[in-house]
Amino acid sequence: MTLEVVLLGTGSPMPSPNRWGPSQIITDGETNILVDCGWGATRRLFSTWGTALRPNTVHTLFFTHLHSDHISDIVDLLVMRWTGGVRQPLTVYGPSGTQDVIDGARLVLKADQGFRLAHRGDELWDGGTECVVQEITAGIEPAEAATIGGIRVKVFEVEHRPVFPAFGFRFEADGKSIVISGDTNPCPGLLNGSRDADILVCDSMHIPMMQQMEARLREVNPVSAELLVDAHDYHAHVGDVAKLAQEAGVKHLVLSHILPPIADEGPMVDMFTAGLDSVFKGKITVGKDLMRVPVE
Ligand SMILES: [Zn+2]
Ligand SMILES: [Zn+2]
Repeated sequence: MTLEVVLLGTGSPMPSPNRWGPSQIITDGETNILVDCGWGATRRLFSTWGTALRPNTVHTLFFTHLHSDHISDIVDLLVMRWTGGVRQPLTVYGPSGTQDVIDGARLVLKADQGFRLAHRGDELWDGGTECVVQEITAGIEPAEAATIGGIRVKVFEVEHRPVFPAFGFRFEADGKSIVISGDTNPCPGLLNGSRDADILVCDSMHIPMMQQMEARLREVNPVSAELLVDAHDYHAHVGDVAKLAQEAGVKHLVLSHILPPIADEGPMVDMFTAGLDSVFKGKITVGKDLMRVPVE
């Protein structure tokens, strides 16, 4: 099977009925790598009927950064993976601070794990929600981070300040490549990491559509509206994403981490992508939750 990305969640911290928290699986049919674990990621895995993706098939987890929308489903993932029958720890790669996130999640589950082992300790692995954490670093050139099964993983630094460090990842197998941008402005790390990629799944924000939504929100919740204005500075504007993808020689650009949240189809999608095809000459897809995008 060819390398494929399964979009579990294409949203952001902003609530949306159709776009759940940022999360995706990279798979070659044998190795399943989870990249980020935003809200609902575990439930989304159970929604991929017929694809053999389940929490207990996740071999390894990579965090791009530690913003809440990328990590908040880790508790559910750990318990559902364990009660799904695994008998080995989850390996988790991420930036400095990842060990604290995992320790905290396991503490949340401490009582639960005790109850379940007391009740079903003959069947459940006594390691429970154990994880092996690898805190990694990155520079603006993609560097080897790991090889998981037949998939090589490279990491590069992206620009999401004030969040630092923040990573993007490049997954390679059999000469194919899929890049996950993480949350970022266009930056040298993302350009280098995306060179000639078959697929780039990229953070995407549409500023005029954000401003329309902020104006409505300001009437009812000015604090939330101002937080959204801040976000303009550290997410990739769709026009800039198209430019970077063209410069990098990306073949297929998949827009994700969609800001503001938009419907899956219809005029909002048209507005979100208007004019991008005059800048980027490859294929453009607006990601949807549970969409599968294989390397062609
Ligand atoms: Zn995010
Ligand atoms: Zn973020």
